[in-house]
Amino acid sequence: MPPRARSAWFRTLGLLLLILAAATVLGLLGGQLFPVLTATALGIVAWHYWRLRKVLIRLTARQRLTPSDSDGVWNELDRLLYRTQGEMRGRKRRLMEMLRAYRAAAAALPDAIIVVERNSQRIQWFNEAGTRLLGLRYPDDIGASLVQRLQPMPLAHWMAAGRNAEPLETWSPLNPGATLSLRLIPYSENLWLMVARDVSRLLQLEQMRRDFVANVSHELRTPLTVIHGYLDMLDPEEQPDWAPMLSEMQRQSQRMTQLVEDLLTLSRLESQDQLQAEEHVSMPSMLNTLRREAAALSQGRHQIEIDDSAHVDLVGSGKELHSAFSNLVSNAVRYTPAGGRIEIAWRPDPAGGAALQVTDSGYGIPASHLPRITERFYRVSTSRSRESGGTGLGLAIVKHVLQLHEARLEISSEVGQGSTFSCHFGAAWTRPNDAPAHAGPPAHVHS
Ligand code: ADP
Repeated sequence: MPPRARSAWFRTLGLLLLILAAATVLGLLGGQLFPVLTATALGIVAWHYWRLRKVLIRLTARQRLTPSDSDGVWNELDRLLYRTQGEMRGRKRRLMEMLRAYRAAAAALPDAIIVVERNSQRIQWFNEAGTRLLGLRYPDDIGASLVQRLQPMPLAHWMAAGRNAEPLETWSPLNPGATLSLRLIPYSENLWLMVARDVSRLLQLEQMRRDFVANVSHELRTPLTVIHGYLDMLDPEEQPDWAPMLSEMQRQSQRMTQLVEDLLTLSRLESQDQLQAEEHVSMPSMLNTLRREAAALSQGRHQIEIDDSAHVDLVGSGKELHSAFSNLVSNAVRYTPAGGRIEIAWRPDPAGGAALQVTDSGYGIPASHLPRITERFYRVSTSRSRESGGTGLGLAIVKHVLQLHEARLEISSEVGQGSTFSCHFGAAWTRPNDAPAHAGPPAHVHS
């Protein structure tokens, strides 16, 4: 107990004893000890009840009542309550200021932020950008169902995925020309945050980049063809002095032509969301072509094996699939030293569908490089890639072709042991070997 409270306590106790002593003396003098003592005790109790009432009033009062300055335990209690009340109000004010500052910051964000109740999917709060980007109105839309309010945006299915929902790119309900990227962030047991960002400018820049690469590649194609053509006409044997330079120039112009062709292929693949046309792709003849290409590239330096145990064909773009598979085969040959073994297998996938696997016994890829290996121009060893005539775009092309066929690429590799690149196709993309040509596209790909 603080000293001030202790002394107030003793003072009140002393006063109580003094009153009782005085009452005893008065009672004895008047010969009415018991009634006088009882009346005094009742008076003391009544006084204490009256003070207790004052304390209760203070606790329930909305405004702060200034305590009196006098002594006594009740006044001390009053003063302590007054101080605690003041501290609590200060703390509350600081918390409110913090809350207001956070809300102001969230309100000022350029992205639309919407707090949604998880089970009912009702809107609890949104910032100004919610009005600007999504057309939400305050206060009418507070408590409204988010999915219904933002119809016809395709949110119902997306929100059902909850925590696992991938960011969704969709048009803005206010401006169909603008694209929004939506993200769902569960941040408490029953509240979700939906963040909508206008990505139109970003997509525009991305498109500009793609167009630029495609245009430059296209413009380079003709001059390169001319240079390449003339260089081919010059026979190094007829010009012995120039022979080393001529063959280097021929090699480099061949590389540049390949680079331009690969860039054009990538641009074409990137500009498609889904396949333009689908055809029945015969896998036995595809495997045959791949074997011939591998043998031509290897020039007898490797042992090449083919295994066709899937006995199914594919639907899709024969040209793009061939370009993807032959990139894998060419990598296997280029990154396997002479004497190595290369297997091209077309096998049933235990999870359904089938997988094309290209396995080599070559240099292998360190695990740390695997996550980035399909990025354009990403190489484990730039010199080895250049030496072997690589452009650094092969696996990026493979990834895009597989995406268009809803297939996935799996890579397993061990340094010094070799690598396996597997392209897994879903059952919807396979057809029995004897299916008629031009079998219809998979039902779920085109509506
Ligand atoms: P590149 O034209 O350089 O071969 P890719 O995109 O085809 O470009 O491959 C990217 C990189 O991945 C290559 O530079 C090489 O380092 C590595 N790589 C690809 N396939 C294999 C393989 N079968 N064995 C070892 N490394 C490989």
